[in-house]
Amino acid sequence: MSPALVSPARVGLDIGGTKIHGIAIGPDGAVLAEERAATTPGAEGVVKSAATVVASLRDALDDGEISSIGVGIPGIVDTRAGTVKHAVNLGLDGDAFPLAELLGARAGAVVTLENDTNAATLGAHAVEDVDDLVYLSLGTGLAAGLYLNGALRRGFHGAAGEVGHLPVDPEGPVCGCGQRGCLELVASGAALAAAWPTAAGHPAAALFAAATAGDPAAVTVRDRFADGVAAAVRALALAVDPERVVIGGGVATVGEPLREAIAAALVRQTEASPFLASLELASRLRVVSAAPVAAIGAALITPTKD
Ligand SMILES: [Zn+2]
Repeated sequence: MSPALVSPARVGLDIGGTKIHGIAIGPDGAVLAEERAATTPGAEGVVKSAATVVASLRDALDDGEISSIGVGIPGIVDTRAGTVKHAVNLGLDGDAFPLAELLGARAGAVVTLENDTNAATLGAHAVEDVDDLVYLSLGTGLAAGLYLNGALRRGFHGAAGEVGHLPVDPEGPVCGCGQRGCLELVASGAALAAAWPTAAGHPAAALFAAATAGDPAAVTVRDRFADGVAAAVRALALAVDPERVVIGGGVATVGEPLREAIAAALVRQTEASPFLASLELASRLRVVSAAPVAAIGAALITPTKD
């Protein structure tokens, strides 16, 4: 008789502009291995650096067996075709790039792609264990993933949850998307860094530390930022009324003080409206600061079948 069979691990890769975070999880969801590596931009660079992370994960596993590779990547992803477009931060700004095929050939396993926010949403679902949630990513930009009634909602054009481009200020500056006064220009990691520049370290951490210490300028910037995020939460709640709103992305490393600031902003915004107050939005908020939801979610991507 052969020894007890161990089901192969599923690999998840969170491919970002500067680094790739890879994780291998077992059939029970336990994390078996974790690796990080710098992203080399460009077509060949991205495939090669992703394959290197997969090889390191494979080496770290007892049996080296991998059943599937899921990839969360910024840009416009065609999950069925296994291609990504407009991943400008990765130097993949041309036509649909067949990453699934190229990485699959190099890594020797089936590869499925998903937009990075959607992948993180799957991870948030796994970590939070509710079947109805909105994942709001406060990264460089602002975008949400929708996991509703037990399924990811990508949208007819794959644009579901793009709340960062809700115009909120007709007098505001022109956004990269061409509209004026988008929410992302106030409520995103890039907006925060522009409003509270730091010579070194994480701007969000510096801002929240200064605000907590009572710096009035920091309190003003923090509250304006939190008001913008709260506006996104409110829009999402009014559109789909999710059981939970999970805040993630780079700014979420701030942790509990971020949740408190957004919750306080939601309470301020509901003061004049018994209707909004009755929705109890603040109590639905969670912040995932430690859990590597993007890579976990990537490992949980289910291949799309025709
Ligand atoms: Zn915009």
